[in-house]
Amino acid sequence: MSQNITTHNLGFPRIGGDRELKKAQEAYWRGEIDQAQLEQTGRELRKAHWQLQADAGLDLIPTGDFAWYDQVLTLSATLGNIPARHRKTAAAAKGHSHHDDLACCPQRDYPVREFATTACTDIDLDTLFRVARGRAPTGNATTASDMTKWFDTNYHYLVPEFHLGQTFQLSWTQIIDETAEAIALGYKVKPVILGPLSYLYLGKEKGTEFDRFDLLEKLLPAYQQLLTALAATGASWVQIDEPILVLDLPAKWQRAFESVYNRLQHPKLKLLLATYFGALGDNLSTAVNLPVAGLHIDAVRAPEQLISVIDRLPAHKIVSVGVVDGRNIWRNDLEKSLAVLKQAQERLGDRLWIAPSCSLLHSPVNLEREEKLPQDIKSWFAFAKQKVQEVVTLKTLLTRPFDAIAQEALAASNAAAQARLSSSKIHNPEVQTRLKAIKPEQAQRQSVFAERIVKQQALLQLPAFPTTTIGSFPQTDYIRQTRSEFKQGKINAVEYDNRIRQEIADCIAKQEQLDIDVLVHGEAERNDMVEYFGEQLNGYAFTQFGWVQSYGSRCVKPPIIFGDVSRPTPMTVSWARYAQSLSKKPVKGMLTGPITMLFWSFVRDDQPRATTALQIALALRDEVVDLETAGIQVIQIDEPAIREGLPLREKDRKDYLAWAVNAFRIAASGVQDETQIHTHMCYSEFNDIIQAIADLDADVITIETSRSDGELLQAFEQFHYPNDIGPGVYDIHSPNIPEVNTMVNLLKRAAREIPAERLWVNPDCGLKTRRWPETEAALARMVAAAKVLRSEANRSNVLDLEQELA
Ligand code: GLN
Ligand code: ZN
Repeated sequence: MSQNITTHNLGFPRIGGDRELKKAQEAYWRGEIDQAQLEQTGRELRKAHWQLQADAGLDLIPTGDFAWYDQVLTLSATLGNIPARHRKTAAAAKGHSHHDDLACCPQRDYPVREFATTACTDIDLDTLFRVARGRAPTGNATTASDMTKWFDTNYHYLVPEFHLGQTFQLSWTQIIDETAEAIALGYKVKPVILGPLSYLYLGKEKGTEFDRFDLLEKLLPAYQQLLTALAATGASWVQIDEPILVLDLPAKWQRAFESVYNRLQHPKLKLLLATYFGALGDNLSTAVNLPVAGLHIDAVRAPEQLISVIDRLPAHKIVSVGVVDGRNIWRNDLEKSLAVLKQAQERLGDRLWIAPSCSLLHSPVNLEREEKLPQDIKSWFAFAKQKVQEVVTLKTLLTRPFDAIAQEALAASNAAAQARLSSSKIHNPEVQTRLKAIKPEQAQRQSVFAERIVKQQALLQLPAFPTTTIGSFPQTDYIRQTRSEFKQGKINAVEYDNRIRQEIADCIAKQEQLDIDVLVHGEAERNDMVEYFGEQLNGYAFTQFGWVQSYGSRCVKPPIIFGDVSRPTPMTVSWARYAQSLSKKPVKGMLTGPITMLFWSFVRDDQPRATTALQIALALRDEVVDLETAGIQVIQIDEPAIREGLPLREKDRKDYLAWAVNAFRIAASGVQDETQIHTHMCYSEFNDIIQAIADLDADVITIETSRSDGELLQAFEQFHYPNDIGPGVYDIHSPNIPEVNTMVNLLKRAAREIPAERLWVNPDCGLKTRRWPETEAALARMVAAAKVLRSEANRSNVLDLEQELA
């Protein structure tokens, strides 16, 4: 049996175990440290992460995974694709010519090599920050580039902007420099870059209409320059990521792969083409036949493709098998992985490589730091550092099966797997019995919407164009301080309760004064809409340092769903009851829906996500019913994450939407007809899932519209949304106070597509990031706008309003 298996990694989290990078970035933006200090932090982090991977025994360590904001943005700079408005000499950019002057390049503390001649346009570190944030310590403020989700992860990348007739050339040498830096430090590295087809595909055309695909010809020479420069560092392998190979690709994009990779040959370089986040599917034969030295596949998301890839791969190519989950926190079941790898090893010999499934960017950094997790639960997890060790252990188990340390790791892995199978912390028979007993009618309200809304209206007596908000009100320093003092034990439960009650009372009083129709309690007791519920549910765990980069300097610490979910006691009822006691107007109960609870957490890998979603739904269903019993007549179940969960491949979407909708309906349908269920989503690109949104059968949906220029309303031209809807009338992301007229007009436009009696008036999201003065001013105008519409409607007949407004 071969002894020459290679281990490697596709990327290591760059933020640092203590979020050092985040802290340094933000300090730099605030002007507290200078660029040299920021660069120093970056250098230290890179070195620490290379060392950590080398210490683990990894054969090839990734470079190019470090970024000052985002790796796609780094690549845009590398290829000279930076919007003119962000360039250092924004005004002079047009006349800027290529030159060899290195004066404007970042400091290097190692020799500058051949590639230096191509460097240095008018791009510097602050240019990158202007692209990302619209501003930087130097240069003029301007609009940032768009950011969007990286495939189905929670990471956001900066969308490359493409213009008709633009050119590309090597303009930013960071990836090359950092590769040289690692090699100079003695590490055996493999630079990682995003491939040209994925890079183009993931960007967007700007300005004059054209097809960005047509830029391919111009883009390839810049990639060739980059490869030449990388070869000059001494690297022998380059990993080129083409994750779009797991998507449904238009035919011309799929066809382009062959010729592109024919042209990216470099005599001194071997290319590893990396795919992840799913199966190659109909792109499989394209992928296996490309003129590259190796192919990486995701064997966690799509284990079934391993054998077909091996069967069809030309005999000289290596296969990198991504067996360690880069997207989750679960310890690898080494025994299971070994079985998969042994099969591959028999076929491939030393052409087998072992790796995580994707970059570890999506994992927290280091489990060892966690001191508060119960020992057994902790033993089920692995973060980035542990995942690298798992990759190396798997190689050892294949090549030196009697190695004592590897055997010990295998035994520990087996023990953890065994414990997960049987632990009573994970398996709760009561939950499972209840799950099995779910009947279809539990996903059904008692009557159809048309009948419910009549009963609700009789009870609630709301005016036309009822006003409401999305849930949270400004989170003042005092509120944050109250929560943190309580958490640290500095104030007791009675004091905490009193303070939160006071916040609720203030919030209700302000809404009464503003004359809002359906009130909220303000969510002062919640730090985060998922964590707040997770902390009160069985089956959830929380980490101290489990940070994952979301974008730029933003990190999130997702809860971990490790076991069957159940609700030991009511979670929101006492606050809701108190809030309702303060007003004669309805106060909304406020919950986070099952799909959002699922997608904003790390989830179990030992049962389908649909099952976990149903468990959460049942816990929420009890909460909804308890709220109703406590006299709450309107209950909102937020689902901002429902669209995020949409599978990458069209063929998987119907199934997902079916179980997601069902989970929501299970949560929402335990109540009487009179109880009004609201939901909220904060994005508007849901044209493609609008049927599913309607299928949620919420009585009212509040949704973002204000930022998207009526994109949402277009959706309603083709689709007749059946229930009540509140198109957000102003953008809460901006401190600007909206004009009454703007809001009136937006609602009038909405009334062309949606019957006026179905329309609500509300902001487009929660108000927790705003301050009180602007919030009160904005809401006063929003209520005024509703009143304008009511008085106009009164002059005619409410039911005729639609025609009148049209
Ligand atoms: N109810 C939540 C709030 O108002 C909803 C937040 C969200 O949509 N992301 O803050
Ligand atoms: Zn929202």
